[in-house]
Amino acid sequence: MALISSGFTSKLPDLPTSIFTVMSGLAKKHNALNLSQGFPNFNMDSTLINLVSKAMEEGYNQYAPMKGIYALREVISEKIASLYNAKYHPESEITITVGATEALYSTISAFVGPGDEVVVLKPAYDSYEPAIIANGGTPVLIQMKGKSFEIDWIAFKAALNENTRMVIINSPHNPSGRVFSVEDMIQLGDCLKDTKILLLSDEAYEHITFDGVSHQSVARFPNLIERSIICASFGKTFHSTGWKMGYCAAPKSLMEEIQKIHEFTVFSVSHPVQVALANYLKEPSHYTGLGNFFQQKRDLFLSAISESRFTYTPSQGTYFQLLDYSAITEEHDVALARRLTIEKGLASIPISVFNCNGEDNKQLRFCFAKTDETLLKAAKILCSI
Ligand code: PMP
Ligand code: GLN
Repeated sequence: MALISSGFTSKLPDLPTSIFTVMSGLAKKHNALNLSQGFPNFNMDSTLINLVSKAMEEGYNQYAPMKGIYALREVISEKIASLYNAKYHPESEITITVGATEALYSTISAFVGPGDEVVVLKPAYDSYEPAIIANGGTPVLIQMKGKSFEIDWIAFKAALNENTRMVIINSPHNPSGRVFSVEDMIQLGDCLKDTKILLLSDEAYEHITFDGVSHQSVARFPNLIERSIICASFGKTFHSTGWKMGYCAAPKSLMEEIQKIHEFTVFSVSHPVQVALANYLKEPSHYTGLGNFFQQKRDLFLSAISESRFTYTPSQGTYFQLLDYSAITEEHDVALARRLTIEKGLASIPISVFNCNGEDNKQLRFCFAKTDETLLKAAKILCSI
């Protein structure tokens, strides 16, 4: 085949393979317990599976409408209204997407171009920066503080200027498990006041918070709504990450621009799954019980490692728990994550890969969306280290 590689410039040169692919691959190769990539190892609710089969049998097998089926957008609108007391019109302010990932990408692509800066809080989920760069924008990275992941709002505000097009936040936060407080949201509102900066809020784990901590959706804050785009994931909420279903919600004038990108990248999303989700979402307990469900898993995992040499602050949300190994070894977190996978049969995610300049705070992330049996096996390994 003729080489044409000199005829173009890569939009994303030197992009490393995602750590999720790397660690899940290593776990598979070494037959290790995989607590690295964030996905459940138990099956989802068969009721939802049956609803999809039924929708297929009933003939929902052709293209869905570009924005998503109305019934699903309507039930999402009702969910947001009842949880956060905000009105998003189903016709013009909600779009069904290929997971939260496509919602994020379509949003970034709709608004970010050459010369635009986008503020990203680090550690950050790894899809934001490539999406910004591929669209010609420049990520401006602000590191959350040390091991506590507090946000330096003074540094945040100082990073904003006339080129700032957008800021991206994520709460409950992957990978730290920290949940933004009301005070954080007030600070954020103060920083953005009197600017035209857009706020992209990644709320993929909106239903997974613990110990009475409540999720501060941007939808709760009237001063933020007008400039905000919310991205959400059904994969996280219904233990169905492989379905790649999500949505975004934003005021009409913003949503029109996002839909232009969505329409000409994917056009529309799985029709039978949308029909099933529209029915399943009518029962709020299908998502309101999620925090308790995962809190039990977090607590089982933490009590089983209480005798280990790892230290931790219990996760406030998401299905990730960070463990601090500084009392055990000085080893770099990437090296340790690899070694634990290969030698001890337990895979995790090193946090430094998400930090500014690879800052290594000796923390590994463990996904506790796993069966109790897997969590106890993993804990036994951790206690032996
Ligand atoms: N945002 C965050 C913070 C995530 O952890 C993930 C990964 N699940 C996503 C977005 C992407 O979600 P989805 O799988 O629905 O595309
Ligand atoms: N969100 C998942 C995690 O944080 C991974 C998603 C992916 O593999 N891209 O582990």
